[in-house]
Amino acid sequence: MADWRDRLPAVRGDLRRDVPLSGLTWLKVGGPADVMFNPADAQDLADFLAALPPEVPVLPVGVGSNLLVRDGGIRGVVVRLVGPLAKVTVEGTTLVAGAGALDQTVARTAQRAGLAGIEFMIGIPGTVGGAVRMNAGAFGGETAERLRFVEVVGRDGRIRRLDKAELGFGYRRSALPADAIVLRAAFGLEPGDPAAILARMDAIRAEREAAQPIRVATGGSTFKNPEGDRAWRLVDQAGCRGLAHGRAMVSDKHCNFLINQGGASAREIEELGEIVRSRVQERSGVALAWEIVRVGEEVRP
Ligand SMILES: Cc1cc2nc3c(=O)[nH]c(=O)nc-3n(C[C@H](O)[C@H](O)[C@H](O)COP(=O)(O)OP(=O)(O)OC[C@H]3O[C@@H](n4cnc5c(N)ncnc54)[C@H](O)[C@@H]3O)c2cc1C
Repeated sequence: MADWRDRLPAVRGDLRRDVPLSGLTWLKVGGPADVMFNPADAQDLADFLAALPPEVPVLPVGVGSNLLVRDGGIRGVVVRLVGPLAKVTVEGTTLVAGAGALDQTVARTAQRAGLAGIEFMIGIPGTVGGAVRMNAGAFGGETAERLRFVEVVGRDGRIRRLDKAELGFGYRRSALPADAIVLRAAFGLEPGDPAAILARMDAIRAEREAAQPIRVATGGSTFKNPEGDRAWRLVDQAGCRGLAHGRAMVSDKHCNFLINQGGASAREIEELGEIVRSRVQERSGVALAWEIVRVGEEVRP
C-alpha cells in the first residue's frame, strides 16, 4: 500500500481510493486507480495539486473514449472533471466549455445559440479536455480550428492561460505540456442558422452510425492514419478485418476499431493491436502508430 495515500491533502471535492476504471472507459477494461479525484472546482484542483507530494503521478481522464487502461490499473491520482468543470457557456460568438463537458454537449449548445463551426463535435464521444489533448477531429473539422485559448493547471497547482499558438497542434496531437490539465477551453464561432447547423449535425450522426461500430465497447480509431494513407485500409489489406484474440476483436464494420466482445482483458486488446501492427508492417512496410492512449500497469504490484 502506497503510504502517500494516508496523507492526502484536504479537498472540497470527492476523493476515493481503489476506484475500478473498467466501468469508466469505453473499452470496459482496466484495473483500479490508486486514488480518484473529482475536484469541486478549479481552485480545489489547484490547491490539491500544489499540496500533493510532487512524486505522485497525476493523470486527467475524460470519459475514456480513447484510453486503454491496463489490467494492473493506474498508480497515483486519476482526475475527472465534473460539475462546474463541465459547464458550457456562450457569450456573443465565444463558447467557453469546461474541460469535463462532453463534445456532444458543446455541439448542441452551439447549435441552440445559432453558432456554427463546431458541428463535427457531435460525432466525437469524448470530453473537451480529451479533445484538446488529442486535437480530436472528424468530418473535416478538428478541435484546433476554432480554439482560441485554454486554461490549464500544472502539476505545481499554477493556473495559467495558453493561447492556441502555444499548443503546437497537429494531426491527433498537441504540444500541451505533459503535466497540464485542461480546465476550460474557449472557441470562436460564427453566427449561423440553427436549422442548417442541426441538419449538418444530423448528417454527421447518420454517417457515423453507418460507418462505425459506436454501440459496442471500443476505443475508436486504434491507429493514426499514416501520411497519405488510411490505417483501416492497411489493416484490411493485411487480412485483419474480424481478427480475434481471446475476447478482443478487430471490428468487421470498421477495421481500425478494436472491440471488447465482453470479458476481454486489456492485455488481450493490446496484444491484438500489436498483432495487427506487425501484420501491417509485414504486408505493407508501414509502422502504424497507436492513436489510443495506453496507460497504467500490466499487473498490480
Ligand atoms: C465510438 C468512438 C468513435 C470515435 N470517433 C472519433 C473521431 O471521429 N475523431 C476523434 O478524434 N476521436 C474519436 N474517438 C476517440 C475519442 O473520442 C477522442 O480522442 C476524444 O477526444 C477522447 O476524449 P476523452 O475525454 O474520452 O479522453 P480520454 O480517452 O479519457 O483521454 C484521452 C487523453 O486525453 C487526456 N485528457 C483527458 N482529459 C484531459 C484534460 N482535462 N486535460 C488534459 N488531458 C486530458 C488523457 O490523459 C489521455 O491522454 C472515438 C472514440 C470512440 C469510442
